[in-house]
Parts: sequence; structure tokens; C-alpha cells
Amino acid sequence: MSDIPKMFGSLVFNEDAMRERLPKDVYKSLKKTIEDGKELDINIANAVANAMKAWAIEKGATHFTHWFQPMTGITAEKHDSFITPAPNGHIIMDFSGKELIKGEPDASSFPSGGLRSTFEARGYTAWDPTSYAFIKDGSLCIPTAFCSYSGETLDKKTPLLRSIEVINKQALRVLKLFGNEDVKRVNPTVGPEQEYFLIDKELYKQRKDLMYCGRTLFGAMPPKGQELDDHYFGAIKPRIVAYMKELDEELWKLGILAKTKHNEVAPAQHELAPIFTTTNIATDHNQLTMEVMKKVADKHGLVCLLHEKPFEGVSGSGKHNNWSLSTDTGVNLLEPGKSPHENAQFLLFLVAVIKAVDEYQDLLRISVASAGNDNRLGANEAPPAIISMFLGDELNAVLDAIEHGKDYGGTEKQNMEVGVHVLPNFAKDTTDRNRTSPFAFTGNKFEFRSLGSSMSISCTNVMINTIVAESLCQFADELEGAKDFNKALNELIVRTIKEHKRIIFNGDGYSEEWKEEAKKRGLLNYATTVDALPHYLDDKNVKLFTKHKVYTKAELRSRTDILLNTYSKIIHIEGLTLVDMVKKDILPAITEYTKELSDTIIAKKAVDASIPVTVEKETLVLLSGLAESIYKENAILEKNINEADKHNGSEEELSAYYKDNVLKVMNDMRKYIDKAEYNTSTKCWKLPTYGDIIFRV
Ligand code: ADP
Ligand code: MG
Repeated sequence: MSDIPKMFGSLVFNEDAMRERLPKDVYKSLKKTIEDGKELDINIANAVANAMKAWAIEKGATHFTHWFQPMTGITAEKHDSFITPAPNGHIIMDFSGKELIKGEPDASSFPSGGLRSTFEARGYTAWDPTSYAFIKDGSLCIPTAFCSYSGETLDKKTPLLRSIEVINKQALRVLKLFGNEDVKRVNPTVGPEQEYFLIDKELYKQRKDLMYCGRTLFGAMPPKGQELDDHYFGAIKPRIVAYMKELDEELWKLGILAKTKHNEVAPAQHELAPIFTTTNIATDHNQLTMEVMKKVADKHGLVCLLHEKPFEGVSGSGKHNNWSLSTDTGVNLLEPGKSPHENAQFLLFLVAVIKAVDEYQDLLRISVASAGNDNRLGANEAPPAIISMFLGDELNAVLDAIEHGKDYGGTEKQNMEVGVHVLPNFAKDTTDRNRTSPFAFTGNKFEFRSLGSSMSISCTNVMINTIVAESLCQFADELEGAKDFNKALNELIVRTIKEHKRIIFNGDGYSEEWKEEAKKRGLLNYATTVDALPHYLDDKNVKLFTKHKVYTKAELRSRTDILLNTYSKIIHIEGLTLVDMVKKDILPAITEYTKELSDTIIAKKAVDASIPVTVEKETLVLLSGLAESIYKENAILEKNINEADKHNGSEEELSAYYKDNVLKVMNDMRKYIDKAEYNTSTKCWKLPTYGDIIFRV
């Protein structure tokens, strides 16, 4: 198919489809319901369902499903066919308004973190009309929110929708102060850049660690890694080109704005970036993108790895969350303006973000905490676990001038004062883009780079929306009562810069000096998921989320438990996988080679005792020693995994146990395994090596 505009969104019940298919009055009421966020009248729902069904059947669909995002981080679906019995043993294809707006899946097997005991298994899904229905694999998919019967959230969509309302409300308050009466809605916008690896399916199947854990648990570095930087933006190989072409087309059909594709830093690593859109849609689309990436890979004899760190020693994969705020009148609120008045507004939103990131570093860190991402943060190109912000030299100088009421770079002779001066045009500076910064201003948006590649972007955006909303709320509280608005505004901005500038750091985030410096500044450094997650429940965070009604305290507790529990389970599976591979693949490989070596020594000696056997002997000694160490560590690992049950007093305790007694042993053991691999013959080491996997696609 080459008519891309026609292909685009062809599987989506979008604006065009609605206008074309729905009676005018139904379309109008639906639009109004969507805009006001009100409940849908059942008559309207019936009419919409009917039109959707007819459209879906024309496109070849036979089933429908509520498509939701439980706390597993992936999406869930349960398909029902449209068939309904009719007289005389016939059937008709039916889909009611009730089925469209509400579903009742058995919720008992989805993580709830104790919110819902299994005997009250019922949960329900409710249509989110702000995200279009679409067709996937012959089913009409209806994006829905997923709640327990008592209304507590069990998913990643509900809190996101709540946070979008919260930031809309607070941003509108601030905009009013600047006289923007025409703005009716402020939407957070997001463009998530998605990194991924593509490897050969046949090789993948030979590595249990890749199959069970999505990452390798050991592997000696090949002679070449990514040091030549010859993969980044390099010419794309034909097999990958074919994959990317099909991927783009499948995404376009789903109305996903796939825009940019290129090779990434590590060999076999790539990236896809869509054009940004509103946060709710961007989140749904990113979930779909990850799913389609895997599906299309399979068709090409490839496997798409979304794990944050599939291979040690080369870059891991992240997801850059580009975030901004945009009004329904088409203004990007993080775009510096052209007049002093616009600049003042821009600066207020800018310092709102600075204050938010500084006060809630912990929440941003928590939003990217997972067993997988722990392997990535702070290593090879990934931002460190310490959250800081990068603003660029120019904006820094501006803030400095404002803070100290002094000249800015000769643009004006008088002192810099908010609301009086025109700011310089900040060129969207790509030259000094600081790749080590977790939270960087990139001209007209912020880019949060700590997210892991496999994660839903929902949690991060719940955090960003809510914490920025809190800053805006405090600002509005203060300014709404001000007698002299400009004076109060200037004071507020200067004070906010003073109080929160410690979060701004433009240097090298990887350096040891930064760790020291960050500590002096009092910035947080939660190195692992286990350190970070319990702070979800810190008083200030509970206060924040309950104040804005994004989460109740019970929901926060449940989320913390689910995330910690998932961490423990992942390390558990990784531990068991390693134990298994050591016993069945690694030790047997070493034994085979050492036997070959001993046989050779005996054979040589039988021919003539004076033939040198140094090579065989030294290799034999080395490998036998390594095998002993691996064997011993493996026994400890197995024992520690088996004893984990004794440490499950709380999810905090259990996850800490897994980190210190399972993950740590795995990492210690890996050194011996990698060395053994390095010294064993290719013939005996039957597992695909890093060299095979990342260089042979
Ligand atoms: P880079 O790789 O240099 O960071 P890209 O152009 O690949 O830049 O990605 C930038 C991402 O930011 C894209 O997804 C883009 O759509 C998104 N983006 C641009 N403007 C905004 C905005 N106002 N709000 C949110 N995302 C944005
Ligand atoms: Mg980027």
C-alpha cells in the first residue's frame, strides 16, 4: 500500500469515522460528553456501539474487547464475538451500548496489592471515550480504565486521566492571571522516544535467559563493542529496513504518528520516535507500539527486546519522555515568548517545573524504578539515579540575571526584571545537549530520560503532571491575592529560583564529583528500586496525591506493594534461570572442554613424555578453578532463592532480601562465568555469545 494518508488511521474509529457513521445529534452529544468528561447516556451509547460494530465488521472484525492497562505494565484484553443467537438457530452480529461502556472482567488474577481480596474478584472496565477505539487482530478494541468494584484504581490509565485533569485545572488558574480568558483547556503533551534491540530469533531461542528474563545474565564481551560509535545513526541493514518499513505501516494504520527511525548507540539497537500528542493518547499509543514492535519482529525472524539492559557492557534501552503543556488555542506554554508579557508567563511555568522536580525528585525516581531499569541507570549513556535538571547555558544565564537583578548578556542595559524585558531567543540548542542529564530542557519542552524502555509511560506522566500542578497551585494561591501582580510575580520567580536552583546541574552526570556535589546539595540518590519505592508513601507524597485526588493512601500502598513484589518476582525468575543454565549449559560446557584438554594431555604423554602440554595444562587448571567457583556460588544462589520465603514479612523486606542475597550472588558469579566463556573453545561453548547475538543480525 502506498497511499499513506489513506492508510493512516484506517483501523481507528476516529473523528472522521465518527462523523461519517454517527447520526449528527449522536455525534454532537458524544463530542460533548468527551469534552465535559460526563457519563454517556445509554441511548447515545447504543447508537455509537451500533455504528462502531458496523464499521468494525466491514474491516473484518468478528470480536470486541475492552483493552485495558493493569498494573502488570502491559495491556490486557478478553475477546467476545459479536454473535448473538437469533430465532431458528441463526445468529446476528450484535454489540450494545452497555457492552461498549462497561465490562466486568474477572479481576482476581491481576495485581491489586491487597486492594481487593480474591473473593471479591469483580472489577470493571469503563470506556475512555477520549481515546479512539481501534481494530487489532480481528477485534474491535475499546480503550478502557480498570477499577475494583469499590472504585479503587487497578490500572495505569485511571490515575493518568486524573492527573491530566489536575494539571489542566491548575494551569488554567495561572493562565487567567495573565489574562488568557480564551483558553478553555490545557493539555500535557508527550512524545516518547522508544529504544529497542532486534536480534535473530534462532539465537534467541538458544538462550534461556533471554527467553525467561528478556536479558542475558552473563556473556563475555566480544573484541568489539560500541566504542567506534559506528552504529549510531549508521546506515540501516536491509533486514532491519524491511522490519522498520512494516512496523511504520502497522503503526500508521493504528493512527500512531511514527516519525523518526534510526540506529542507536549499541550494535543491534534502534529507536523509533512518534510525533507528540496528548498524554492519554501518547500512553495508549506507546503501549500499542511496543506490542506491534514485537509482533512484526516475529514475522521477520527477529525478536524485539524491550528490556532496559539486555546486554552488559553496551548501552541499555530507555524511553525519553518529551513533555510540555499546550493550550486548546495552540500555545506551547514552555515555548519562550516574543513579548515581555509572554516571557513572564513562560518563566513562571518554567520555574514551576524546576520547583516540582526539586521537591519531588523521589517521585520521578520512583516512576522509573524497576528491576530491569536498575541495570541501566548510571551505566553507558543512561542518566544516573540522581535526578537533576539541565537548562542549557543561555537559559541558565537568564535565570541567574533574574535572580540577582543584574544585566543579562547586554540585551538590556537595565536590570533584568520579569515582565519588563524581552528574553533573548533561545536557539533550540542541540550542540550542547547534555546526554547525562535526567531532565533536560530542550528549547520548548522537557525531556525526561530516565524511563526504561519496557515501561508504561503512564506513571512518569502521572508524576510530572501532578507535581507541576502542585507548583502551579501554590503559585496561583499566592498570585491570585496579589495587589501588584507584576511585583508579586517577579518576587515569586526570584524566590523560586533561589530556593530550587540546587536541582540544576549542567555538568557530567556520570562523574564521581557529581555524586559528591549532589550530596552536598542535599539531592537524593536512590541507587536501586528497593531504595526508591518505599518513599512512595512518604508523608509529603501521600499529602500531594490525596490533595489532588490522584491516589488515595490505600492506592499508593497498593502500588508500592505491587511494584516491590514485581521486583522480587523478577529477581526470583532471573535467579532460577541462572541456576538452571549453570547446571545444564555452563558447567557441562566447561566439563566438555576440560575433558578434551585432559584427554589431549594423556594422549600426548602416551606418544612421548617430552611433548610440551603447557597450553592444555594451564587452561585446564584455570577452567577447573573457575568451574569450582561457579559451582560453589551456584549452590549459594540456589539456597538463597529457596530461603526467600522466610523473609516475606513485608514487600520491602522481601525485595531487599532478593537484592542483597540473590541479585548480588548472580552478579558476583557472572564474573567467573564470563571468564570461563572467554577461555572455553567455541565448539564446547554452545550458547550463542554476545558477538553472535549483537553483531549477526
Ligand atoms: P531527539 O532524539 O533529538 O531528542 P527527536 O526529534 O527524535 O529528538 O524526538 C523529540 C520528541 O519530542 C518527538 O517525539 C517530538 O514529537 C517530541 N516533541 C516535540 N515537541 C513536543 C512538545 N511540545 N511536547 C511534547 N513532545 C514534543
Ligand atoms: Mg531525545
